[in-house]
Amino acid sequence: MSFSDLALHPLVLNALVEGGYDQPTPVQADAIPPALDGRDVLATAQTGTGKTAAFLLPSLTRLAANPPAPRRDAATPRVLVLAPTRELARQVLQSARKYGKYLRLNTVELVGGLPYREQLRMLSRPVDIIVATPGRLLDHLERQRLNLSEVEVLILDEADRMLDMGFLDDVEKIAAACARDRQTLLFTATLDRRMAKLAEGLLQNPVRVEV
Ligand code: AMP
Repeated sequence: MSFSDLALHPLVLNALVEGGYDQPTPVQADAIPPALDGRDVLATAQTGTGKTAAFLLPSLTRLAANPPAPRRDAATPRVLVLAPTRELARQVLQSARKYGKYLRLNTVELVGGLPYREQLRMLSRPVDIIVATPGRLLDHLERQRLNLSEVEVLILDEADRMLDMGFLDDVEKIAAACARDRQTLLFTATLDRRMAKLAEGLLQNPVRVEV
């Protein structure tokens, strides 16, 4: 199978080919088609399997295929990625910029430990994708600096690590602030009972992907 067999947006495909990627990894081959169909996905995948592209490529395709209204309010993202750590959030951000390089998207990072002033400046203009750690995202949300009601895709990356770090309540509050008819993509290395419970609350009739 090649990436061109998947129904990705041509501009996303161009960026991939340029990056030297031609074949999807197993998690990409399994998760991308249902995600492109708008299904929720619950994927068990370790780091190094290509999970980042598995959730970013269909999300970028959706953004490219359905351009937003010409006038949009500031701080209303269409895709929200939650990651457990600053380092992981940074990697996801860099991947989103790489795969989305031809899409003219505004991609913003909201992580702890960085000054608020710069983050507020980024939120003062239209934003397409936010990549965040849960604590700082919730902080902006509670100060009403952010409107999640137009989030079309909510992504949880390394969800088990977010639970290990005590972010369960934050993640649930953030998900509750997102549009109800959003798509949710949850990626985790392990699937135990507490993860199954979180997934049950956040996902609707998900496709299970295991690699
Ligand atoms: P991840 O599991 O998302 O952290 O990705 C692990 C590494 O695999 C990253 O360096 C990606 O750039 C790379 N990668 C992801 N998908 C592919 C692919 N289909 N072909 C080759 N490399 C890939």
